Amino acid sequence: MQNYGIDLWSDNNYIIDKDTLRVNYASKPSLLEIVTEIRKDGKRGPLLLRFPHLIEKQIDALFHHFSRVFDELHYSGSFKAVFPLKVNQYPNFIKALLEKGEKYHYGLEAGSKAELLIAMTYINDNAPILVNGFKDKELIKMAFLSAKMQQDITITIEGINELKSIIAVAKEEGSPLPKIGLRVKLHSAGIGLWAKSGGINSKFGLTSTELIEAMTLMKEHGLLTQFTMIHFHIGSQMTNIAPLKKALKEAGNIYTDLINLGAHNLHTINLGGGLAIEYSQNIASPQIHYSLEEYANDVVFMLQTIAKAKGVTEPNITIESGRFVAAPHALLIAPVFELFSKEYSEKALKLKDNNPPLIDELNALYLDINKKNAREFLHDSFDHLNSLFTLFDLGYINLIDRSNAEILVHLIMKKSILLLKDQHLDELLKMQEHIQEKYLVNFSLFQSMSDFWGLKQHFPVMPLSKLDEKPTHTANLWDITCDSDGEIPFDEKDPLYLHSVDIEKEDYFLGFFLTGAYQEVLGMRHNLFTHPTEATIMIEDNGYKIENITESSSIIDILDDLDYDTSDIKKRLYMHIKESHFIKKDEKENILTILDILLRENGYLKTTN
Ligand SMILES: *Cc1c(COP(=O)(O)O)cnc(C)c1O
Repeated sequence: MQNYGIDLWSDNNYIIDKDTLRVNYASKPSLLEIVTEIRKDGKRGPLLLRFPHLIEKQIDALFHHFSRVFDELHYSGSFKAVFPLKVNQYPNFIKALLEKGEKYHYGLEAGSKAELLIAMTYINDNAPILVNGFKDKELIKMAFLSAKMQQDITITIEGINELKSIIAVAKEEGSPLPKIGLRVKLHSAGIGLWAKSGGINSKFGLTSTELIEAMTLMKEHGLLTQFTMIHFHIGSQMTNIAPLKKALKEAGNIYTDLINLGAHNLHTINLGGGLAIEYSQNIASPQIHYSLEEYANDVVFMLQTIAKAKGVTEPNITIESGRFVAAPHALLIAPVFELFSKEYSEKALKLKDNNPPLIDELNALYLDINKKNAREFLHDSFDHLNSLFTLFDLGYINLIDRSNAEILVHLIMKKSILLLKDQHLDELLKMQEHIQEKYLVNFSLFQSMSDFWGLKQHFPVMPLSKLDEKPTHTANLWDITCDSDGEIPFDEKDPLYLHSVDIEKEDYFLGFFLTGAYQEVLGMRHNLFTHPTEATIMIEDNGYKIENITESSSIIDILDDLDYDTSDIKKRLYMHIKESHFIKKDEKENILTILDILLRENGYLKTTN
């Protein structure tokens, strides 16, 4: 049995119970049961499940830890959180987040006009809206409109010219004015794959000279009262705490100095995002080296120390955590629909009454292999295979013999891997790479896990069933795009073993976990596979409810999105059918109906599973 590192990455959100995987909350439903229920009426292809209770868990944890440290240290500032929309703008996620976050006045952060529009439409009462990223005058005017709608909005300035635009818009629009934040460019760089967000060469933020210039400009134009926040963001998936501490020291001192320079309404430090998620399935090598508890302790202690030393009031703290809040809530479930090394099974052997002697010997090796002789037999089988290839080239054996030889050697390799599993032989580990089973999975890696494609970000994966059986196949996962990059190869360091299944007789689903942050919107429509069918699962003390089922785009909608003229598509297809001599007159009507149904179905494969 294997637990797929669940103790490390699942944060107790899922548990293995005998053969099945359960959601570890309230009535603890099995995932397979939920999937079966959703697929009851014929929905096929990959499924994205959202669990609002996991959003609640993350935001509760944030608020719990900050309020705990505030109490312990008698900290006088307040704590606020906003969700950066770029991490996941899907309505069923945002709706659940705002509902679960209402009690905390959870806010939203927008980085574009479209995102700001979402924020202005759905923001909770008394919850902050922050606007980051590059801005034009129109975006700034939208922020002024938000202020007129009595919303608590702060524009964070990334460069001096944006401040000049705000000054210009303020002259046109008058009050109420939005609040102003300044993003500071820190000397201390971030870490990780996303390091470019922090550091002196970062795309964003003001240098110390620019900060002073901004202060002067705001003073001149009567905007200094609006300046309430400084902001930094050192990058995403921060795996160590050290860079944050360095950044806090720097930002803390900038904060106190700006106050001492006359920024009397400045009261908040916005820490940006960066809180990491544990994606590793390998207990021996976790990705994160700090806890949320430590993070909160360090932030509050450090800001308190600096405020004390410089004699200013302790700052309010705002956080823009995205990944930490969104990643756990979504789970992609995809059916396996073919195992590709099936050809190397015993069933595929076509042994003759009279085989070439080397084939008979290979067969004997396969039948007699045991723990003691496994290594020797394995080496012998390689020798035989080489000789057999030569015999084939010389025309002494035929294609059937050659196929038997390949199958037998594969079977011997598989058996010896199992027999010698405890010995951790290098030779065997290398061999596993060559004899993996290829699991063809009904999903698109480009659409649903684009960070694996782009950044080699690992997402925990495990089957939803058979968890009481030993998985024996070294697995290599293929998606259904026609792209050789649509593959999660077997990784010696993070080996994935899956079960032997007969897909024609039983379903076998894989869960890809922690896919709720970034993946959905980064998703690419490679081969025109679109966002999978999704459902929100509300787990209750007895049972669960399936809500907001949204089916993956229909083929005709996908084409419409690409700006094809869909009525033209239909017209032409109908014409091709009408004019075809191969289709009988009385069949035409029926074929048109079938075509209509096809166009309205989603584009994923529709096999028995
Ligand atoms: C992307 C981003 C975030 C979110 O970062 P996470 O690592 O997902 O928490 C927060 N703030 C800013 C400015 C960002 O660009």
